[in-house]
Amino acid sequence: MDNYKKNIGRREFLRIVGIATAASSINILQGCTPGPKKKLKTAVDDADSRPAKMTYRNFSDQEKESVSILGYGCMRWPTTPSPDGKGDLIDQEKVNQLVDYAMKHGVNYYDTSVYVQGWSEKATGIALKRYPRKRFKIATKLSNFSNYTRENSIKMYKQSFVDLQVEYIDYYLLHSIGNGGIRTFNARYIENGMLDYLIKEREAGRIRHLGFSFHGTKDVFDEVLAMHEQVHWDFVQIQLNYLDWNHASGNNVNADYLYEELQKKHIPAIIMEPLLGGRLSKLPDHIVARLKQRQPENSVASWAFRFAGSPANVLTVLSGMTYMEHLQDNLRTYSPLVPLTEDERQFLFDTANLITQYPTIPCNDCKYCMPCPYGIDIPAILLHYNKCVNEGNLARSIQDENYHQARRAFLVGYDRSVPRLRQADHCIGCKQCNPHCPQSIDIPHQMQRINDFVENLKQGTL
Ligand code: SF4
Ligand code: SF4
Repeated sequence: MDNYKKNIGRREFLRIVGIATAASSINILQGCTPGPKKKLKTAVDDADSRPAKMTYRNFSDQEKESVSILGYGCMRWPTTPSPDGKGDLIDQEKVNQLVDYAMKHGVNYYDTSVYVQGWSEKATGIALKRYPRKRFKIATKLSNFSNYTRENSIKMYKQSFVDLQVEYIDYYLLHSIGNGGIRTFNARYIENGMLDYLIKEREAGRIRHLGFSFHGTKDVFDEVLAMHEQVHWDFVQIQLNYLDWNHASGNNVNADYLYEELQKKHIPAIIMEPLLGGRLSKLPDHIVARLKQRQPENSVASWAFRFAGSPANVLTVLSGMTYMEHLQDNLRTYSPLVPLTEDERQFLFDTANLITQYPTIPCNDCKYCMPCPYGIDIPAILLHYNKCVNEGNLARSIQDENYHQARRAFLVGYDRSVPRLRQADHCIGCKQCNPHCPQSIDIPHQMQRINDFVENLKQGTL
């Protein structure tokens, strides 16, 4: 975590947070911000005017804890430029507004970790501290990726309580099991005694439910899941969406296998990446048209959220909502959730088959690969590439009918999305980023490939 925080001074963060928190408190004390006398109807009004009818799931037959089917993924909190121009800081006032709106509309599950350069837990803690503890459930993770020592791992664990300002954690996860294979799992949690330590913490009540999040190969999943007899995994967080159900990329395992293995053991599934890092909301135009034709009034993203929430063993579906519009759209989808019919499921599987024909790179913008020591903005490069694929702006040859339009769109958009010094041509191929990528993307290979493509476009040699 220290690495994540090293670029941001604590004092600067607190300064911003302090100002924003005070401003937000005033709003809360006043009930609401005064508005114009005659307000225009907005999406907020639409959502506000509906009765609260969020769908909830019970943790188990024995434990009737209700969890909202929409879980707030706190990995993409809004940021604001730092006053000194050195990077970004979390915009605490906006975080508070999003949390207030989510709480008001029934969201009671908040999933955080060392996200947003390490500041997510602190910002999430500040926002939630304003509510009675029983009204929300916190999930956070042991992210001892680079320093596995017991001492460091316990320090990270304890720091989460401080940053979140809580005395117990509802859902505690071993973070991103699978990355690095079973040897890394053993080093992070078994050989240092951390799993035993966390089990004792669960017995002591400081952890209410213990589980793990998974990105990796089938053999690791099977081996860690087989530990259920001794550990009793309370829940497991998996990547599930209608593309990954049968078409998981890289080392990832198809979601149908992951889900069904959990179901066999009656372990609740928490869903991450329902939108595959936004890829399932930024689809090629004709696939968007296909979804819109079937349900014109609903968003493209709502299909993916209904898919992820429909299976009965799913406890909650996480969404990293940076903008109010995304939160409102998801609330519409899940208040209440209308499970997919069998016909609609098949329609989405057919849609997934169409999507696989587009050669996008499976980056979900998680930023775990950042910062690159050489300054490459890896996710921005990959997202721009994917955007051009989806928009039909990936020229294959100078003979293409739309070659000139596609060339211009790619090159102009590239310079706008990624500063020159952070583009793919500055990658030296050191591979330091690869072990961090949960999607198993060979990042230097992709940087080289994209750079070759850019050079060909520039030279007119495609
Ligand atoms: S391989 Fe390239 S992108 Fe990855 S860390 Fe090295 S320089 Fe950065
Ligand atoms: S390249 Fe991998 S680690 Fe980096 S943002 Fe994309 S998915 Fe995340």
